[in-house]
Amino acid sequence: MDNSLIDQIRSANDIVDLVQSYIPLKHVGTNWRGICPFHNDTRPSFYVSQPKQIYKCFACGKAGNVFTFVQDYEKLSFIEAVKKLAQRVGIQVPERERTSVASTKRQQLIQVYKSAAEFFSQMLFEHGENALDYLKKRSFDPQTAKDLSLGYALPSQKALLNHLMKEGYGVSLLKESGLFGEYSGALQDLYRDRLIFPIHNNTGDVIAFGGRIMEPRDNVGKYINSPGTELYTKGKELYGLYKTKYNISKMDYSLVCEGYFDFLRLYESGFSNAVASLGTALTEDQVYLLNRFSKNAVMLYDGDAAGIKAAIRGGLACISKGMQVKIAIFPPGEDPDSFILAKGKDAMQALIDQASDIISFMATSEQTQSPVKERIEQILDALRLLQDPIQRELSVKEVSEAFGISQNALLSSLRRSTTSYAPKQAQEAVSLPETEIPDERYALILGLRDIESYKLLASELNADYFTSRLPKHIFNFLRDNLIEAGTIDAAALLDAAKNSDIRDGLAELLFEDSPLPDLSKLIRDLKLRKIQRDLEALDNAISADPENRDLLSRKSELLRVYRMMTKKVVNKVLY
Ligand SMILES: [Zn+2]
Repeated sequence: MDNSLIDQIRSANDIVDLVQSYIPLKHVGTNWRGICPFHNDTRPSFYVSQPKQIYKCFACGKAGNVFTFVQDYEKLSFIEAVKKLAQRVGIQVPERERTSVASTKRQQLIQVYKSAAEFFSQMLFEHGENALDYLKKRSFDPQTAKDLSLGYALPSQKALLNHLMKEGYGVSLLKESGLFGEYSGALQDLYRDRLIFPIHNNTGDVIAFGGRIMEPRDNVGKYINSPGTELYTKGKELYGLYKTKYNISKMDYSLVCEGYFDFLRLYESGFSNAVASLGTALTEDQVYLLNRFSKNAVMLYDGDAAGIKAAIRGGLACISKGMQVKIAIFPPGEDPDSFILAKGKDAMQALIDQASDIISFMATSEQTQSPVKERIEQILDALRLLQDPIQRELSVKEVSEAFGISQNALLSSLRRSTTSYAPKQAQEAVSLPETEIPDERYALILGLRDIESYKLLASELNADYFTSRLPKHIFNFLRDNLIEAGTIDAAALLDAAKNSDIRDGLAELLFEDSPLPDLSKLIRDLKLRKIQRDLEALDNAISADPENRDLLSRKSELLRVYRMMTKKVVNKVLY
């Protein structure tokens, strides 16, 4: 879809009008205010600016424009949100906009997967009697298949291939899609006669498929999964998260299960805050993703030894990221699917309510078969990775109580082997500070108020003048996105910000309308700070190499500039 059409759709939808069709807003000052739909709250922290056409929640940080609001609220992909808003104001969007307009390889692959997913799900209801029968046999409602966009791959070597070629995709792109195998030079469908589970990333794009056979076949794996592509890395996504993330953050906990059918059963039974790890244990990437929506998780893995082991491993990975984890204990041989089917959803809810904290589970459960010392070491390993010292201290206390071992003994053991992680911590210590230097923020705020100010900022400074992490990123982002801009269009700028940290930070700066110091004064102060930093670095270099003439002359030049810039300002304290 071309950018001018997107601009047209964005400006035809007024942000206040749109948001008000979802949640009530009240007029306060120049803004509108309401209760944030993206986190659980009773106070109105959610602000909408009509002049800027953007919103920002000052409690959870979510920010964006009309597109992101609809995307996040309705869990849609960007293109879907654009189409929906086009429809809302009666703008026609050309239906078949495929590879020709998608600029990057990634976008092209997303289009391929979207087309493939649509084809598979259409086939399920048109030709997938055996797949539907299979779901019926396992007592799944066809509506669940619809809700989760399940599909069916025809028992043919070319069905998907021919369909996608007809849609206009080129062979070389299809080759790279991972959806086909190559046999003596010809492409063949990878998935044949299988029930298809589309795997979405958390923003709702289909990026991979899992395909399951319905009758056991010789020499044929039960599942085929998409290979790694530019879109998909195994172990990075959580199945179902795109559907449940909103509820996970509202309910403030997630249910983590292992497989597709566990997820389906939980989802169908009204447990709308589940995800499936699609592997034996949660990976670090998956934990990172999950942690963004809630810090609390309940592990729902199989009740056998392997399941418990996986639950503990995944649970400890969560702990090392500062999450709180519980383990629900199924009867041996049961998993969420079989358990709900046999005992019903109330029994499932009871099991979740009775889930035990992972540390006390590891201390007391007879199902963890490893020796006590090994279990404690496992926990300490996780705690060593925990960045937050307070959280670490609290967890040590918990371990001490659960296992009946003194906190001192645990702490000294924790310290003793921390050295092996020292390089990692040292590396993080040199990364840029999170805390912002106010002047850097102010300069950006002023630069965002009008394009002339931005041009002044961009011509006088570069990214080296920014020392705090987010302002530096935002400065770089603006440099890349405002090169040819004639005005500052807040809402359009947020569209360009694909990184949510940058988008949320940017929105906060855009919302700021309190009076600030003069921009040229701020620029001068930032320059002086930079000179001070450079001087410090030079001094260090000189003390290591006192005879180096080059360093000495650079220092005297810097001092000259510094004196010139500060001539009229006596005794100015910059730090
Ligand atoms: Zn919020």
